[in-house]
Amino acid sequence: MRNIDRIYINGKFVKPHGTETMDLINPATEEVIGRVTLGDEQDIRDAVTAAKAAFKTFSATTIEERARMLQRLHDVMMEKFDDLNQVAVEEYGAPAAATAGRTRYAAANFLHNMDVMKEFQFEKRIGKAKVALEPLGVIGMITPWNANYTHISTKLAPAIAAGCTVVIKASELSAIQTQEITECFHEAGIPAGVINFVNGRGDVVGAELTRHPDVAMISFTGSTNVGRIIARDGAATMKRMVLELGGKSPNVILDDADYAKAIPLAVMTAFSNSGQACHVGSRLIIPESRLEEVKQLVVKTVEGIKVGSPREEGTFIGPMVNRKQYDTVQRYIRLGAEEGAELIVGGPGRPEGLETGYFVKPTVFANVSMDMTIAKEEIFGPVLSILTYKTEEEAIEIANDTIYGLSAYVSSADLARANRVASRIVAGRVLINGLYDEPKAPFGGFKQSGIGREFGAYGLEAYVEPKTIMGHDVVPQ
Ligand code: NAD
Repeated sequence: MRNIDRIYINGKFVKPHGTETMDLINPATEEVIGRVTLGDEQDIRDAVTAAKAAFKTFSATTIEERARMLQRLHDVMMEKFDDLNQVAVEEYGAPAAATAGRTRYAAANFLHNMDVMKEFQFEKRIGKAKVALEPLGVIGMITPWNANYTHISTKLAPAIAAGCTVVIKASELSAIQTQEITECFHEAGIPAGVINFVNGRGDVVGAELTRHPDVAMISFTGSTNVGRIIARDGAATMKRMVLELGGKSPNVILDDADYAKAIPLAVMTAFSNSGQACHVGSRLIIPESRLEEVKQLVVKTVEGIKVGSPREEGTFIGPMVNRKQYDTVQRYIRLGAEEGAELIVGGPGRPEGLETGYFVKPTVFANVSMDMTIAKEEIFGPVLSILTYKTEEEAIEIANDTIYGLSAYVSSADLARANRVASRIVAGRVLINGLYDEPKAPFGGFKQSGIGREFGAYGLEAYVEPKTIMGHDVVPQ
């Protein structure tokens, strides 16, 4: 039983001003595993004061000094690797192997940003002008529960690289993981006030961070609905915004693809991180003439997926993060059937033998049309919709028929054709014939999947503001 009754302000673990408490529940067992004391508006104000004071000296640090800090932040995460993983499995319920991969990825973010920072031109010449790319100031960071360490490091690493100070409000559902990573960062010996963490509810501490006049930017990852609120409330103080929001990503399988490979991969992609990931390919778009073959391949793949305790070897799908998320996924499964989609595997309720825990059945619907709710809305669980097309043109039309534009997937034996289709899909990232990652390439959304980009030089640019100076080299006569 963990009692998270401290927040981290100005280099110290301090008692929050807020007094409300919330139970933390292991989603695989439904047992209470901890309690968090939630911060309030005053805690945010105190954290911003500390970050603002620290900014004066931190913004003047050298690249070499910040490189040492980034290296140290990476190293402390790797030293605490096992502890970080253990609490993520317990509190979030993600299968152990996937958790370890994500923790490694989160730590590596600090090294990638160190490389990017060393190559980044913090000062440029444009004609007569000198353009200095100056650190923005205090950054407010608001993150979701579905990959706590990754989201925190994705935002913190470029902030440190740019010379900004931060106030982090992670998801209230991830308080134990946030405590664990805060302890790591404390050990890294970063100057007091540079990194501050406040636990609390989104509409209380998140809202205060968004409104605070001394916060220069909000870097937010979460739902499109909350992104809209943040964009609206942040506008009053002209905050810069990076918004990484939801998705309903298409996976287009062309008629010449290798179906024996592409379909199982499509299912695994849709269900990665137990379906609780922004980039999952939740709309599988296939030729009408191949529907029966695809249905068989999908059912066979789903039947081979292990759903269960995140601690057990071989588990691919763990529980949903909490009761609310379980209920949301159940609602969408019911809606799919009610609106006339054909259930081919899975369905409502818990999988057999998993009566305790927020487990859902990996579920696939065929004969889905774009007017159905399950084709339009982000479900954030292991539910896949199969849609069919007659022509390549129609496949592209279906892929783009969404308010979102985060990720997309294309499979074809003809690379030129796959590239042609990829170029016409409106999404921030398109993967062809497989899964890849490039940690320095930009990630982010077109349309209502967000504003701005994370990772690499594009990510770092969000944390600096250009200042043009002229006359800097004109000697007074
Ligand atoms: P959420 O939007 O409910 O919450 C995200 C964070 O915002 C939490 O810390 C929450 O406390 C806070 N928040 C809530 N209301 C707020 C308010 N009024 N003001 C300020 N902050 C507030 O999202 P979630 O349920 O935690 O995460 C799932 C969502 O995140 C999905 O929509 C998913 O697509 C999205 N997501 C996007 C990406 C991406 O990179 N684009 C990555 C992961 C998750």
